Amino acid sequence: MTLEQLWAGWRHEYVTAAGAAEKAGIDDGCVFCRIAAAGPPSADNAVVWRGELTLAVLNAYPYASGHLLIVPVRHLSSLDELTAAESADLWETTRKAADAIGRAYDPDGLNIGANLGRAAGAGIPRHLHLHALPRWSGDTNFMTAVAGVRVIPESLPRSWEQLHDAWPPA
Ligand SMILES: [Zn+2]
Repeated sequence: MTLEQLWAGWRHEYVTAAGAAEKAGIDDGCVFCRIAAAGPPSADNAVVWRGELTLAVLNAYPYASGHLLIVPVRHLSSLDELTAAESADLWETTRKAADAIGRAYDPDGLNIGANLGRAAGAGIPRHLHLHALPRWSGDTNFMTAVAGVRVIPESLPRSWEQLHDAWPPA
């Protein structure tokens, strides 16, 4: 079974959100803009936390359970397009994501970072996002384990529950 098949059911939610976004007149060509338009955090839209400028959503194609993407609400593709407020909020949300992952999974370490541009490995280069994910001693390398079947020992709704519960208070 491929990841594509594994998460086909979950991806249905994106498709549903896309329909709603289209009706609201939002560009549904961008998956993060669709997520930003998909309402308050819920297991259905996989958004774990949402503020005015930034949101944190589970990666639909996780490298590990609890793999979060931290995304500016506004559609932009590079760091230098961020306003000072967006930049500060993006980092503050990343800090909280690391805190939540730590509490929910008690990992040995964390990867936090960004792939800027397709050449750097960005799957969705048109809308800036940061990755935050738990790591354990002896697991496979984040940067090279990019294709094929991976064993994800936890469902996305379960990951959502874990991280939503562990998200630090404002
Ligand atoms: Zn976008």
